Amino acid sequence: MPVSANLGFPRIGARRELKAAVEAYWNGTMPEADLAAEGARLRARHWQLQRDAGITLIPSNDFSFYDQVLDTTALLGAVPRRFGPLGDRVTTAQYFAMARGTQQAPAMEMTKWFDTNYHYIVPEFTNGQHFRLGSVKPVEEFLEARDLGIQTRPVLLGPVTWLSLGKAKDPGLDPLAFLSAILPIYVEILSRLAAAGADWVQIDEPILVTDLSPEQSRALRTAYAELASAGPQIMLASYFGALDDNLDLALSLPVAGLHLDLVRAPWQLADLLARGSDKVLSLGLIDGRNVWRTELAPALELARGAVDAVGGNRIQIAPSCSLLHVPVDLDAETGLDTELKSWLAFAVQKLAETATITATLNGTDTAAELGANAAALAARRASPRIHDPKVKARASAVSNADLARKSAYPARQRAQAARLNLPAFPTTSIGSFPQTTGIRRARADHRKGLISDTEYDAFLKRETDACIRKQEEIGLDLLVHGEFERNDMVEYFGEHLSGYAFTKLGWVQSYGSRCVKPPLIFGDVSRPQPMTVGWSGYAQAQTARPMKAMLTGPVTILQWSFVRDDQPRSETCRQIALAIRDEVADLEAAGLPAIQIDEPALREGLPLRRRDWEAYLGWAVDCFRLSSAPVRDDTQIHTHMCYAEFNDIMPAIAAMDADVISVETSRSDMELLEAFGDFSYPNEIGPGVWDIHSPRIPETDDMVQLLRKASSVIPAERLWVNPDCGLKTRGWPETEASLKNLVAAAQLLREGGQTPLPIEPKGLALAGCGCASH
Ligand code: GLN
Ligand code: ZN
Repeated sequence: MPVSANLGFPRIGARRELKAAVEAYWNGTMPEADLAAEGARLRARHWQLQRDAGITLIPSNDFSFYDQVLDTTALLGAVPRRFGPLGDRVTTAQYFAMARGTQQAPAMEMTKWFDTNYHYIVPEFTNGQHFRLGSVKPVEEFLEARDLGIQTRPVLLGPVTWLSLGKAKDPGLDPLAFLSAILPIYVEILSRLAAAGADWVQIDEPILVTDLSPEQSRALRTAYAELASAGPQIMLASYFGALDDNLDLALSLPVAGLHLDLVRAPWQLADLLARGSDKVLSLGLIDGRNVWRTELAPALELARGAVDAVGGNRIQIAPSCSLLHVPVDLDAETGLDTELKSWLAFAVQKLAETATITATLNGTDTAAELGANAAALAARRASPRIHDPKVKARASAVSNADLARKSAYPARQRAQAARLNLPAFPTTSIGSFPQTTGIRRARADHRKGLISDTEYDAFLKRETDACIRKQEEIGLDLLVHGEFERNDMVEYFGEHLSGYAFTKLGWVQSYGSRCVKPPLIFGDVSRPQPMTVGWSGYAQAQTARPMKAMLTGPVTILQWSFVRDDQPRSETCRQIALAIRDEVADLEAAGLPAIQIDEPALREGLPLRRRDWEAYLGWAVDCFRLSSAPVRDDTQIHTHMCYAEFNDIMPAIAAMDADVISVETSRSDMELLEAFGDFSYPNEIGPGVWDIHSPRIPETDDMVQLLRKASSVIPAERLWVNPDCGLKTRGWPETEASLKNLVAAAQLLREGGQTPLPIEPKGLALAGCGCASH
């Protein structure tokens, strides 16, 4: 008989209890034992909840105090030397030090987990590195669940994905070379799990849905030849895409089961069944990456096909991936109307869907549930709240002419120089200025109704005024208003667009204790009225210097929202682009001479497979152009991107045709900029010369050095001088001091001054960028 399974449950807690506990521990207000107890309490609650939802195969070791990749690093004892020697086990202090750094040891790097907004801690590899069992967490949590009467299926991150996600710190070192060193530890933990009574384990190898090198394929064969008989039966989990050309490889591995993501890639089931296999198949039919209610009928049909082909005993029904990427419980949402709620499913509801499909396959009468599901989905499809014929008509009428500026860059450059009259090496910032506790308090008080709209508005105007005065004093050339009215660069726009909804508790873990609450795009998107013109227009009126308006770009708005699943993402993105286009036109009409459209998420939207890059970049770049193109030649369009490797997408970045792009480069010591030089990026560039994620105040000489390095690859007349990201997380004193140094650096360059000082090595950790996380 088919059984229901789950691959992972959100660990943060419905009310972010884990965040509170971990942060209290960090602040020294919660002892370690209490933190451990809180973890256990959450695990118990979540196991119980999954059992109550009717799930048979319940995961353990999906819980983490910070990150499952870091947990694997601890399991394998791969503690970088700077965090001290590894004793019997990785200590709690060492564990969090790796994630967050200490005064002496910078944190390990952090980066995005595949194409999600979840960030993992990047394993580090050095020559001659040793590994040994550094944690027994998988066994402990298995036993903990068993003591509660729940037999779980422990989850491990697979060796090849773990190695592939890591970074070699020594030149020429290939992390895969450590496979033979870590396999014995996997064998050890698997045999301990078997001894503890685990009959199955889930081993995640999401690397299987990417383009594998021959070395990676070989590593997978070697690994599973060894692990398959080491302990419990293995359910090998692939997710976030199709196995496709790796399907034969996956089927050839001697594991007992294979999990397929049939939401992202439903076609692969037929491919698999056509090949025939004696594995247990776990069908990922419920979307673990999005918040929409599953349409049960087609999911059931897929499942029935599989049952007919291989027999019910070899079928498991599951979400497509771990539910880590969706909020916990829709029932907690009191602010959403019942109609919208009837279209949604969070983790708890997704488990109920999983159970319903399984029960139906097993002959239970679920007619009522299936009927309710079909009715809700039909109502969603037909709802006038989703369909705005005017928006659809406008989007389908977009033509290539709408994507192009009036003139090519050289003519625009001349027109803008005449209008803006900026000095060489013009200075500017990326948009936001410090969001002080005063600002946060005022926002919260306003939200609670403690201060009126008028009071709040007057407060924000005072903050904006002060920020403009500061920028004038510091001597910046192109000013910004400071973004004090915005809590978050996507949420702010979502709140002003139609087709958007917001949750109260729809938190999703972003990294460590940080969570984001992505807004929901449920319908056709349009802009009922201007969103930023009031603030930018007000700001321009306060100064004689040119003001740069600030917008978030369509791709970033899309990327950091939960997006409707009933039309292609490109279509939704085009609707957002049209709304931004209207805002751009209105800003120009209001007299703003420069408009920045941020696209920090452009690169992270790249598909996992190379073959899909071109199509994505095609529509993403078109959407940016659609949003930015309506302006006159003498209106300067800026864009900003951060923390991304640009080398492989340079043509797309150039095709965006922004007049000025500001990018993060200071952490990589301008290396990134070489890509712009090699490619001969045609327009203006502001390489970030101040790493705003570091509390360190950059010296003028450091910045001069960086700029001089930049001018060896980019002509000096096309260089801007700016920080590498927004300043909202910084305090005023360091902001002022740093910007003064930055202006001084520009001044020195204008005078051609020479200051041959060496650049200090930085080695800084990313403190999370872009999306405000809480
Ligand atoms: N304009 C935004 C800011 O300054 C850009 C943020 C970002 O790049 N993530 O905050
Ligand atoms: Zn940025």
